[in-house]
Amino acid sequence: MNDGTPKVDGRHTGCRLFVSKSGLTGFALGTQGDRAGWLYDFFASPRDEQHVVPQLMALAVQEGARRLVTYEHPFFETFFSTFGFQTRVRARLAQLNDPPPAWIPDIVAEGSTSNTCPDFLCMLRADDGVVTARSLASDTTNFASRPGTVFREARCAGCDGELPRLQWLDVLDGYLCRGCGFLHVTGTLTLAPWDGPLARSKAERFTGSGARRPDRTTFSSGLDLLQ
Ligand SMILES: [Zn+2]
Repeated sequence: MNDGTPKVDGRHTGCRLFVSKSGLTGFALGTQGDRAGWLYDFFASPRDEQHVVPQLMALAVQEGARRLVTYEHPFFETFFSTFGFQTRVRARLAQLNDPPPAWIPDIVAEGSTSNTCPDFLCMLRADDGVVTARSLASDTTNFASRPGTVFREARCAGCDGELPRLQWLDVLDGYLCRGCGFLHVTGTLTLAPWDGPLARSKAERFTGSGARRPDRTTFSSGLDLLQ
């Protein structure tokens, strides 16, 4: 694996980048300012070796990943919960003020189908002690029938048993083996940085307009999702 190399393009300013040996799977880890501790742009290729994803995830935690935004799906939420993350907030697209275009899956942005944009989960490492949401915020009932889901036959990498492999929109490809419990998840595991309005200083954000509405309904940045 490549050790995190500092990068200076805008999207990954203040991040270190990590990739698997094949170069197909990787993530960005925020290290500076508001981005510190965020696990960004974790893309796991279905063509990579299956053990690469949990290995990289363990590396991310070891290197300081504390927070992330992923799509609302029980596969993602369960995967991250095995690494100590819990859901802080679940938000719909309509609740986000000017989110990064990259957060909207291509297949949804194209608008040619009935697929609607998935909800978003902001997850935190539970040992940060600030998580109050119930343990799973994803819809676990009938998730296999949600729009954009297709199945195909596959074999479990854990026990070699036959199982249905789930593909959802263009963001998730994986399976949960009922035989041995192996959870394999690939695709867009975590989303791009969302810094929000750059003009707003941190001081303004916390002291400016004063009272934070008690019942938050909209969010303006990744950091905002944590408030
Ligand atoms: Zn299995």
